[in-house]
Amino acid sequence: MNVYLDCNATTPVEPRVAEELLRFTVEEFGNASSRTHSYGARAKKRVAEAREQVAGLASARPDEVVFTSGATEANNIALLGLEEEGRASGRRHIVSSMIEHKSVLEPLEELARRGFEIDLVSPTRGGWIEPNAVAERLREDTLCVSVMHVNNETGVVQPISEVAGCLADHPAYLHVDAAQGFGKDLIQCRDARIDLISVSAHKLYAPKGVGALIARRRAGKRPPLAPLMFGGGQEHGLRPGTIAVAHCASLGLACQIASSEHPQRRERWEGMRAEALAALCKLGAEQNGDPERTLATTVNVSVPGVDAEAAMVALKGTVAVSNGSACTSQSYSPSHVLQAMGLDSSRVAGALRLSWSHLTPAVEWTAVVRALGALAPAGAQQ
Ligand code: PMP
Repeated sequence: MNVYLDCNATTPVEPRVAEELLRFTVEEFGNASSRTHSYGARAKKRVAEAREQVAGLASARPDEVVFTSGATEANNIALLGLEEEGRASGRRHIVSSMIEHKSVLEPLEELARRGFEIDLVSPTRGGWIEPNAVAERLREDTLCVSVMHVNNETGVVQPISEVAGCLADHPAYLHVDAAQGFGKDLIQCRDARIDLISVSAHKLYAPKGVGALIARRRAGKRPPLAPLMFGGGQEHGLRPGTIAVAHCASLGLACQIASSEHPQRRERWEGMRAEALAALCKLGAEQNGDPERTLATTVNVSVPGVDAEAAMVALKGTVAVSNGSACTSQSYSPSHVLQAMGLDSSRVAGALRLSWSHLTPAVEWTAVVRALGALAPAGAQQ
């Protein structure tokens, strides 16, 4: 059996969420903006509920949820959407980190081309951003700080509440790309100081093609985001276009279940992690990312003497794993995250990411160890 261990690339869809998706696609197919009949009213009601369900995980208000096509779009709206405000207020400095996803780094590169100054903080060797390192970069003209919630390659949970604490007396907007952690770590995104949170449904057992930007009011005022698209005025004009009712309903339900079933899920994730580490440790594997700070759904390891490409071939038929971000895997370039953490090139070239969910069936770890062990140079195994 080829067990899917690449849940950081995308998760399977929770069966109850799949039912919801089908129901609001086939039976309740109304347009949430239709005002003249009950089809529209029912769709509108479900979208309103979905907003509550998403907002609930961030202790935000339902009307602060802007549905998008995913976290990439949410990140783009959050960062590029602040451009006008930056120009108007003369604040053109942005602080972010070297371990962000490309959907944050590339909008930042675009802002740099448009005259903004981008300061990227390096992570510690354990793959987390030191809050003080962010605090030290703050300037009077800092418009925004963008730090991710959970890193997609290492699973390291970033100290968001502490970063938020550093901004207590600073007006900069705080954006958090929570694509990987939303609904998995239930603590960090609740901090009221976080202005903008990007959410992706397909990392939370819901379908691809939907996400959200939570744009929290501060002192009663919405973040001053300008839209990137123009159209029908939906989502406060920030993300116009017919609302994808079935997808929003699916994301909403996924958020609700993530909250109510979190303890059981966590127990299962931790059990899987313990099994994975016990097996990999027989090969002398080194974990990339501080184990104390890593979400229990992810293990990123390098096995001495084993190249990731060879490992993935050897593991075919046993487990489906990856060597990092699916979004950059076409380019075969070494991980910018692991490099920024200061890991040497052989460790980076050997890095394998294994990520699972509560839906993952049992893994034949002895077969994994056998396959990887056959690649390791003699004497490397412990
Ligand atoms: N940020 C992070 C940290 C991610 O892992 C991903 C997905 N790989 C994204 C953003 C983009 O999310 P989406 O696929 O919903 O656009």
